[in-house]
Formats: sequence, structure tokens, C-alpha cells
Amino acid sequence: MNLRCVDCDALFPASMMYHCSHCGGILEVVGLGTGTCGEGNERVSAQPTMWRYGSRLPVEDLSYAVSLGEGITPIHAANRLADSFEFEGRLLLKDEAVNPTGSFKDRMLSVAVSRAKELGFEKVVCASSGNAGASAAAYAAKAGMEAVILAPVHTPREKLTQIAAYGPEVRLVEGHYSNSYRIAQQLSKEFGYANMTTTYINPYAVEALKTVGYELYEQLEGWIPDYVFVPVGAGPLLKGIYRGFTEAREVVGILHGDVEKHKDARIPKLIAVQAEGCAPVVKAYESGLDKVSAWGEPYTIASGISDPLIGYEQDGTHTLQFVKASQGFAISVSDDEILQAMRALAVLEGVFAEPTAACSVAAVKKALQAGAIPQSCSVVCMITAHGFKDFKIYQDMEREHRKCIFPSYPHRPF
Ligand SMILES: *Cc1c(COP(=O)(O)O)cnc(C)c1O
Ligand SMILES: [Zn+2]
Repeated sequence: MNLRCVDCDALFPASMMYHCSHCGGILEVVGLGTGTCGEGNERVSAQPTMWRYGSRLPVEDLSYAVSLGEGITPIHAANRLADSFEFEGRLLLKDEAVNPTGSFKDRMLSVAVSRAKELGFEKVVCASSGNAGASAAAYAAKAGMEAVILAPVHTPREKLTQIAAYGPEVRLVEGHYSNSYRIAQQLSKEFGYANMTTTYINPYAVEALKTVGYELYEQLEGWIPDYVFVPVGAGPLLKGIYRGFTEAREVVGILHGDVEKHKDARIPKLIAVQAEGCAPVVKAYESGLDKVSAWGEPYTIASGISDPLIGYEQDGTHTLQFVKASQGFAISVSDDEILQAMRALAVLEGVFAEPTAACSVAAVKKALQAGAIPQSCSVVCMITAHGFKDFKIYQDMEREHRKCIFPSYPHRPF
């Protein structure tokens, strides 16, 4: 296993390193068990987890693996939701809300904390808009490591409460996410914390997200959907799905002992979804640019992707490359569209998602109406985190909703 710079190709030993020391580029993990079997779970957990693909995860000795049961999340057919926007194709939800702390960040932190432990670190730091912080704190607790979480002061209270429950040191930082990002970097540099921030800064965390692609491929039995809609902040999840599909045929084929049967090597078109109030990747895409620039002041209820990328614009650029390589596109949705999607998901499908997680659904509806995707195709929406993460938004929405329906049902007894 090595780290390789995505810009200049320089190779480095697989230490806890965050940027290329020659050009400052993003690092990614290379040289992991190509051609070997994808197994590992039986050495990590009695229950099925994403460590099923353990030999493709960047931990050399699996006895260091820190697991709370992450991954192997369900896929739901969303027929009622599809009907509600007159979609004639196949609509599926990949429900990452059922991960141990309620978001897909658990995959990243399970691997990153394991690798930090393997490399001898005793303390971790993580900048977070809420979800990564909960994951970092939970996995650090399980590993017996010290954790410092840096979060914007306006992080939803429910997310802060959840983080605090796992007992880390929590520090609230003025302003948007990029400020927390910068302080995490300083703490890591000056005091030797392993940096678990879930942009592209920690290559081990990013590598974990290939398992989403493997899982989709394996659960759908090699049937490739036309589109996957992904809420995007910096974008590691989108890259992970891309890389996962690239390797899935081999990994899953070997696991099932039928490499021949798994022949379809296509990659779905990957759609980067952002909120209108913070959409640096969409802005570059729509302007026909290859390079993403930082966003000014973000303003959106989608806290999980409210990331202006200030100081690490290259992360957005890297993500845009995978959008284009998959022949996908980037699209933004308004806060109103997000709220509508949240409600539709819960009422029609029984899936309670936080605003960020409902962005994918809002974007499918919008893309259909705009003719950006055909009326009949197959779509997977990533549902990235649970509705419990941001309860207040839902309570406010519910109050609004009651105001609307009560006058028309005056004789209802409640
Ligand atoms: C972090 C997060 C995202 C964005 O993921 P990136 O891959 O970091 O851009 C999407 N949804 C939720 C709920 C998140 O917490
Ligand atoms: Zn480089």
C-alpha cells in the first residue's frame, strides 16, 4: 500500500499524510490487494459489515479494525415516490441513515480511525458540519482514543448533542465549515492529532467509500443503474462510488467465485447534487469550467453539504473530474425543494432523512422536470443521513403543515 498524488503521480509510503509534499495535491491510496479476494469481515465482526471487503480497505492488519456495524445498508424500491413525480423508470434509495451513528460518514471514520490506530496514533481531530464529528467521536470512543471535534457554531443542535454524547472535546468555531477545517489542520500539525476530517484530506477515510459502489453492485446483482444522485460537499462519496463501480466487477466476482458471470463493467452516470445556497461544484459545471472556485458565504438548511471549500478548492475540482468521467452532471436544489423532498420521502416511503440527505430526491424531481434525465430510466438516490440529525427543521415544517391542513378538517377530534 502507498499514497499517490492525483496531480503529479508522486508516490509516498502509507503514513498519516494529507497532501503531496511536492505539489500540495490530493493523495489517494494505491496498491491495495489487487486480484486478491475481497474478504475480511469474519476477522472483524460477527455481523455483516462493510469489512466484508476488508482486503480492499487500507488497514494492513485487520485486528486493528474498529467496527460498530457500518455498511451493508439496505436498498429500497421507492415506487410511491416515483409515482408522485410521474417517473416511469425504476427509483431506488440507498439508505445510509441506518449506519451506526446515522450517516455514511461511519464508513469513513471506521477505516480512518482503524488506520490511525494501526499507525500508533492515540488522539484524533475532526472538523465537521455534524455528521463526521459524531462518527469520529463514536469510533474514537470504541478505539479508546482521545478525540477533538471542531464544528461551526450554527451546526444543528441535535448533531452537537449527538457528538457530545460520545464524550469528545467539542469546540465550536465561528463562521462556516472552512474555518473549522483550518483549525483542525493546525491542531493536527502542531499537536500530533491524526486528522480525520472527511474532505479529501484523509486518504484512508476516502478509500472506505469504494464500499458503497461495491455494495450497490453486489446488492443489485451486477445490474447497473443509469444514474446515481449524490449529495456533494467536497465530494469523496461521489468519488468513492465511481471507484467502487470501477473495481466492483472484480471484487464481487471473486467474492462469489463467478468472475465470468459479472460482465457488466459500466459505471452509472454520477450526479453531483448541491444546495443553491452553497454550490461551488455546480457553478463550475454550469459555467463550463474544469476548475472549481470557493463559494462566498453559504446559506442553506442542508448543513451536511454547506461547505464553501475555501482553501481546498482543489477538492471540488477533483470531484468534478469524476462527474465528467462518468458522463454525469451537477445540479442544485433550493431549500424549499429540499423540504418538499424530505416530506415526500417520509410520507410516501417511510424514510426519514435530514435535509442534506433528501437533496438527492429533490434533484431527481428537478432533473426530470427539466428533461435532464429521461422519463424512463433507473436511478439510485443516496440517502446520506437520518432525519433525527436535524429535528428542528422537521418540527418547524410540521408546524407549517398543520397550519395548512387544520382549517380544512375543522371537525377532527385532535
Ligand atoms: C458529509 C455529507 C455529505 C457530503 O459528502 P461529501 O462526500 O463529503 O461531499 C452528504 N450528506 C451528508 C448527510 C453528509 O453528512
Ligand atoms: Zn503532487
